Amino acid sequence: MFPRRRVFAWAGQPRRLSLPGNSRSGAAFSCDKIRAMKTSDTEAETGENTAPESRPSNFIRDIILDDLKTNKYAGRVQTRFPPEPNGYLHIGHAKAICLDFGLADEFGGHTNLRFDDTNPEKEETEYVDSIMADVKWLGFRWDGLYYASDYFDQLYEWAVKLVKDGKAYVDDLSAEEIRKYRGTLTEPGKDSPHRNRSAGENLDLFQRMKTGQFSDGSRVLRAKIDMASPNLNLRDPVMYRILHAEHHRTGNKWCIYPMYDYAHGQSDSLERVTHSMCTLEFEDHRPLYNWFIQQLGIFPSQQIEFDRLNLTHTLLSKRKLLQLVQEGRVSGWDDPRMPTLSGIRRRGYTPEAIRNFCASIGVSKTTGSIELAMLEHFVRQDLNKRAPRVMAVLRPLKVVIDNYPENQVEGMDAVNNPEDQSAGSRKVPFSRVLYIEQDDFREVPPPKYFRLTPGREVRLRYGYFVTCTSVVKNQKGEVVEVHCTYDPATRGGNAPDGRKVKATIHWIAAASAVDAEVRIYENLFVKEDPSDVEEGKDVLDNLNPNSLEVIADAKLEPSLADATVGTRYQFERLGYFCVDPDTKPGKLVFNRTIALKDTWAKVEKKQSGQR
Ligand code: ATP
Ligand code: MG
Repeated sequence: MFPRRRVFAWAGQPRRLSLPGNSRSGAAFSCDKIRAMKTSDTEAETGENTAPESRPSNFIRDIILDDLKTNKYAGRVQTRFPPEPNGYLHIGHAKAICLDFGLADEFGGHTNLRFDDTNPEKEETEYVDSIMADVKWLGFRWDGLYYASDYFDQLYEWAVKLVKDGKAYVDDLSAEEIRKYRGTLTEPGKDSPHRNRSAGENLDLFQRMKTGQFSDGSRVLRAKIDMASPNLNLRDPVMYRILHAEHHRTGNKWCIYPMYDYAHGQSDSLERVTHSMCTLEFEDHRPLYNWFIQQLGIFPSQQIEFDRLNLTHTLLSKRKLLQLVQEGRVSGWDDPRMPTLSGIRRRGYTPEAIRNFCASIGVSKTTGSIELAMLEHFVRQDLNKRAPRVMAVLRPLKVVIDNYPENQVEGMDAVNNPEDQSAGSRKVPFSRVLYIEQDDFREVPPPKYFRLTPGREVRLRYGYFVTCTSVVKNQKGEVVEVHCTYDPATRGGNAPDGRKVKATIHWIAAASAVDAEVRIYENLFVKEDPSDVEEGKDVLDNLNPNSLEVIADAKLEPSLADATVGTRYQFERLGYFCVDPDTKPGKLVFNRTIALKDTWAKVEKKQSGQR
């Protein structure tokens, strides 16, 4: 379960969030100066940079400003983003990416992409490729591209040095024994019986570990620090383990692999990283990283920890997301319900919306959780500006306008985007037989229902006023056809006599309608905190059984016939939709990116009402 720190304090324009905790500031970091050349090619044409104008500071930015003032690194700002290629990136990584790249960018610095590939059993080239694609899509370009595995030779040499200096030893204890000897938070650990081997013996054993003379798990190399340290990470941590496994880059060259904690700090140092940002769980590892750096006398990178992003109704852990994929609970890493960058990209989220969201949530020293509705708010805000409006009917109900000439087709002028004059207008065909949403008709209207009902006049968007005169029912008594008359004088949607109607509904002319499959998504997890499970239950028990609804026979206006994969639209009155890669010639598939209703705005309203 994640701790409760819910952020509600957001309204309208991106602004500072005041967050509790000991952060010097929880304000937004700089994402507004995304290098122009760094905007991804695909999004560059469509993407208007909507990042916030102002640049409030945050505690990490303040540290960098201080370091620049004191000339600590000779004016250099070098950061890195260090993913482990054991899964696809998720929205939490987007926060780290925006921070690493955004801050370096602001101060004319550089950012490396470095794969932390020290665990050959879980890492794959597929993940490396997807991570690179996702970073680019988000709008960033790395300066150096590195792999921790590039440093295996150097790391080994340094390990040999530590052995020779009496700072590391080979231990024959099993993993289980090492755990037992380690002690607890309240009890000191115990020295291993092998702790005092001579440097010569250790060197010989370590070399033999490297040349494959021992089996997996039979020995490890440990740093010789302090078994009584209050920091468990300093109780002689394991530096190398034996693993006869093929590595995605080094093949079978190695059968010993450095532990992440031994590789990470030195990799930073080798790249002369000045500010090494990572999430709070590594705070207690910092003394260990510093210990290695001191013993080796190498460039001291400065590690700064910030809070992990948690989102309500969302799991942000590659390991758990992998489980969803492997168990077939979703269609893949890029299932539009997944919080992975490839999932939300397929769903229709924009990189601009994600960057603005990340800038708005800022960084802090206290882990909490952010409302999913807040992310959705940024998606809507961005799509509202750029998505062309079109008409689509998801659940069609046939309407016949009895007094409209048969075989007549009129092109009605429809505005492409009221938020963007330059988007112009298009013609939408109108004819005698139309489809409207089933929801837009009620034979017996409930109170305050102003849409179509027998005897009622409504406006057809961009069309005419129509009045319902009768209905046709099937054997089950369901309305299958609605008959109307239209008033030719109301063409375009206004009555010359000034009479008003209370509802405007959208429609599609039946003859020229384009068929489509539309996939409607809801939260993947029912619980606000998906990892909140009863004993004996699993996170997957919290999956929402109704997170996907497939509408097989939606009707779209003909301008969408050739819509290309990835294009985003607003279906008027319904929401934002995006063409899915499953689309084939003659079979359009759309994902609902998000409905129009802004639940975040509602939360806000409710909150202000309560105050
Ligand atoms: P996961 O638990 O999902 O596997 P991870 O931390 O193991 O996450 P890495 O590939 O090691 O994943 O992460 C690369 C970088 O992204 C690290 O600096 C890490 O701190 C950061 N990061 C990962 N998850 C989040 C998150 N939810 N919020 C912010 N930063 C994150
Ligand atoms: Mg990790």
